[in-house]
Amino acid sequence: MNIQRALSHAQALGLPRLEAQMLLLHSLGQSVHARAWLITHAVDDLSAPQAAAFDALVQRRLRHEPVAYITGHKEFFGLDLQVDARVLDPRPDTEVLVEWALSVLADTPAPRVLDLGTGSGAIALALQSARPDAQVLAVDASAEALAVAAANAQRLGLAVEFYQGSWFSGWQACDTQFDVIVSNPPYVAHNDPHLAALRFEPLSALASGADGLDDLRHITAQALPHLTPSGWLLLEHGFDQAQAVQDLLGNQGFTAVQSRPDLAGILRCSGGQSPKVK
Ligand code: GLN
Repeated sequence: MNIQRALSHAQALGLPRLEAQMLLLHSLGQSVHARAWLITHAVDDLSAPQAAAFDALVQRRLRHEPVAYITGHKEFFGLDLQVDARVLDPRPDTEVLVEWALSVLADTPAPRVLDLGTGSGAIALALQSARPDAQVLAVDASAEALAVAAANAQRLGLAVEFYQGSWFSGWQACDTQFDVIVSNPPYVAHNDPHLAALRFEPLSALASGADGLDDLRHITAQALPHLTPSGWLLLEHGFDQAQAVQDLLGNQGFTAVQSRPDLAGILRCSGGQSPKVK
């Protein structure tokens, strides 16, 4: 079987072409970005072991294992992150939250930034790389996630500070106020059938109570004392949670409460500003 046929076969089994290309490149020991290589080698024959190795990866993907866990890498905001089953697979939609944080920080020199539930470190590392003058702190309850995030920070040479804790508790946040607090917390309802397709990812990074809002409720209720006057709390949430999160922010006294769409045009992030005078 040649490369072209192997790709068509994987597509016939149900894989999008891009995923089939990435998995084939990975199984051949090539960079997953080397798609031009596949085109120039389209009629090269795969050896039997190469074909078997590719097929094994295709089967893993067909069982819903994220491509990023299979290849061990995910590109996020232009950064090459190493990821595995200890952390949520970073989604491109979360880049919207990064862009939003960068825009509210544009006029703040040496800003202080907090990322709650950092997972792979995606958001914190993206912000630190775009704003080398920022002091970025990142918190996660999972020691395993923090190990992944800290390894990414070290490999990328980014000076994010990591702490283990549960949202605002268990680490030394008391005397620090942040210009921006960002979070992509768990927000899927415990009984959401969608979780079955996400079973390779840590449930603790996905599910949050009966309506998916437990952690968003907690964060919005606790954030204000940790924000500078006019500081922003920016949150990712589920496709149908924008109004609920806006209400949570409004009820806590946040101002300028608003939402932003994700890449599919769905309101996926909501945020608000701490009052100037608290
Ligand atoms: N965006 C993920 C999904 O539903 C969930 C991520 C999260 O809970 N923070 O596919």
